[in-house]
Amino acid sequence: MDSPAPPLPAPAGLTGPALGEALVDWFAGAARDLPWRRPDTDPWAVLVSEVMLQQTPVARVEPVWRAWMARWPTAADLAGASPADVIRAWGKLGYPRRALRLRETAVALVERHDGSVPADVTALEALPGVGTYTARAVACFGHGQPQPVVDTNVRRVVARLVHGRAEALPARVADLADVAALAPADPTRAVRFSVAAMELGALVCVARSPRCDACPVRRSCAWRLAGSPAADGVPKRVQRFAGTDRQVRGRLLDVLRAAHEPVAATALDRVWADAVQRSRCLDSLLADGLVEQTPDGRFTLPT
Ligand code: SF4
Repeated sequence: MDSPAPPLPAPAGLTGPALGEALVDWFAGAARDLPWRRPDTDPWAVLVSEVMLQQTPVARVEPVWRAWMARWPTAADLAGASPADVIRAWGKLGYPRRALRLRETAVALVERHDGSVPADVTALEALPGVGTYTARAVACFGHGQPQPVVDTNVRRVVARLVHGRAEALPARVADLADVAALAPADPTRAVRFSVAAMELGALVCVARSPRCDACPVRRSCAWRLAGSPAADGVPKRVQRFAGTDRQVRGRLLDVLRAAHEPVAATALDRVWADAVQRSRCLDSLLADGLVEQTPDGRFTLPT
């Protein structure tokens, strides 16, 4: 089957909010149908999705998010869960400290906000595990507030589209103002713009080989107009996973997730041959509160 024709590009010479308007128009036809974007999604569900999506692709997050929300539909539900259940439900999403942090966030929401998710960015940022990005994403996508929402994808889009650079600079305070300067004046469209910019970075203006021929704002893109200059400095190396401490930690946790009672050290020894690396990873899991040692020297998920 022929692939669909790329969308007609917006006119050349757009700047500021006119660029944001063009992205909102493009998003109306290009948006992925993701469950946390549906109109009936509440701010708690958005918060859960944002924490899961940090460093983890949509395809892996979606089934875990669905199961998680079915089990713990409110912050109060999650606050009452055991750490072990939360780590088990996190499954293979990676960076499992996020699971414990999310539970801590739920406890704080119950204690400080009667279980609801505040709309105020400052109150959101005061929650454990909620930073600049997540606070604005929840205020914007969960509460419908126009907010500049700046993740890695958006910084890359702005670097190319506005500044004519192949890559984003390291995160800086000015990123928020850069993105706010592109937002449409209408509040509803400004909210749509925030998610549209993220979508463009995820689907079209991707890190390697941007799909400029499919880009709705290609005629106004500073990087394209400058002749697509190469990035400064050395190319970034792709992070490997095999053999890393992350892989070892994941294997150790797999054993404990599957066990219904504490396991002896010998059961953990079998998952990784390098004793020094295995021991280092087990120590780090203990330090992170993801694993506990029982008085008789066995290991278990935290109770
Ligand atoms: S034209 Fe290419 S580089 Fe410019 S914003 Fe679109 S996808 Fe990104």
